[in-house]
Amino acid sequence: MKSLDIESHPMKAVAARKPRCSRCGACCLKQGSGFTMTPADFKRWKDERREDILRYIPLHHTETLDHDVWIDWADPDTHESLAYCPFLQMVDHRAYACAINETKPDICRGFWCEWAYGAGRRGKPFRSANRQAVKAAPVRGT
Ligand code: SF4
Ligand code: SF4
Repeated sequence: MKSLDIESHPMKAVAARKPRCSRCGACCLKQGSGFTMTPADFKRWKDERREDILRYIPLHHTETLDHDVWIDWADPDTHESLAYCPFLQMVDHRAYACAINETKPDICRGFWCEWAYGAGRRGKPFRSANRQAVKAAPVRGT
């Protein structure tokens, strides 16, 4: 039987080119604390009774929210802005994970890392994704 030459196998090159997340955490760390919260995020967290998330949001006492809003995650006790998202977890000495991945903000769901997925292709930096969301948001009071 002819042995499979793994090194020259065409799928190896395809696999090497396949974009993937290395879980370096740079996207969340570079993003800092600010993010665009959509009404859908807010409603979902209310419906899911995610007080563990809402407690980090300065607006969390608000009953309804019908427009995108820029916020900074804030310490629930001191109300001071945090340096970066409180849900970024280091899972081993080199890998990070999102502790609320199942219900993370829309902005995080829509983001595609330009390092892993290619600038100008699928990649979309977190900050420009945020800026686009802010621009698209309806302006209050007009
Ligand atoms: S999306 Fe990109 S920056 Fe974020 S953890 Fe993955 S590889 Fe790192
Ligand atoms: S919610 Fe999750 S994906 Fe979004 S910034 Fe925080 S850790 Fe990163």
